[in-house]
Amino acid sequence: MMLDGSTPAQRPRAPLPTFSVVVPVYNEEGGLEEFHRRLAAVMDGLGAPWEALYVNDGSTDTSLRVLEALRAGDGRAALLNLSRNFGKEIALTAGLDHAAGEAVIVIDADLQDPPEVIPALVAGWREGYDMVYAQRRVREGETWLKKSTASLFYSLMQSVGGVRLPRDAGDFRLISRRAVQALLRMREQHRFMKGLFAWVGFPSKAVPYDRAPRRAGRSKWTMWRLWNFAIEGITGFTVMPLKVATYLGLAVALFAAIFGGQMVLRTLLFGNRVPGYPSLMAVVLFLGGAQLVTLGVIGEYLARVFNETKQRPLYLVEHYAPSEGGAMHAATQEGQARP
Ligand code: UDP
Ligand code: MG
Repeated sequence: MMLDGSTPAQRPRAPLPTFSVVVPVYNEEGGLEEFHRRLAAVMDGLGAPWEALYVNDGSTDTSLRVLEALRAGDGRAALLNLSRNFGKEIALTAGLDHAAGEAVIVIDADLQDPPEVIPALVAGWREGYDMVYAQRRVREGETWLKKSTASLFYSLMQSVGGVRLPRDAGDFRLISRRAVQALLRMREQHRFMKGLFAWVGFPSKAVPYDRAPRRAGRSKWTMWRLWNFAIEGITGFTVMPLKVATYLGLAVALFAAIFGGQMVLRTLLFGNRVPGYPSLMAVVLFLGGAQLVTLGVIGEYLARVFNETKQRPLYLVEHYAPSEGGAMHAATQEGQARP
């Protein structure tokens, strides 16, 4: 049975979509209708069946109602409603899980990623690339602080992260079916999507574009959230910080040994001059600090091991209304364990 009560045989069977557009939505009520209008105009120009899969990530505004109305008015729209807010990375994963298309396009709902770039992404896919990502030419409407910390993060990930993250590329991209399949095999709880995209490999291509300022609503990325995002990226892809702790400890111990030896010599040669309280405090505090930082680093990794061992599902679906084309796909997937 379909959600509207008719059986699949009764309605004209919609073809499986070639393109699935996955759109994570969190409190975007102000811009969704315009987004869908612009998206539909672009997608219709591609000459292939498509669906827009909106993942409502526990919005607290009226986004869900707006999306339900969209879904009712357009059979190419699908709505996946998560049981609460899980964060963009997981919302994206949920979208990829449910996408039926041969190629999946990931795009933000706030119109910062212009849908008009999609044909260029599709052209890259038709040339045979598996991962066609949109690369920002300019970062409009972002503070100097955000730009410089982002740049620092990219170079850090490149040098110690072991994965080459393309600079100035966000989640806005097209992913081929086989690359999606590869991505979905990684079910880790701590999902740093940019890193996972890069980890998958496959032939990739960049398409430059101009990122627009946000149309409505506010960015959900506070400085604190970005900081945690960066920690997620680094701890998800490298154990280098654990090694840093080792070498820092070694260096401090070596320095202490030399310092101690020199003290003994000085005392033997020149006698004991008692003052030295400040240097003592400095050494004690420095070592205390280094130990706490080291413990903290170990704690970050331990916490991730803890979270992964719980093997919880990544997200829970409250309600799924597939698009007309995606309904067939959804039916065959039902009851089947996800990868
Ligand atoms: N988003 C989400 N869950 C969240 C936060 C954000 O699904 O917990 C969505 C949001 O609706 C938007 C996209 O992720 O479509 C990007 O969010 P935002 O615009 O806040 O990020 P920015 O563009 O500032 O990087
Ligand atoms: Mg945005």
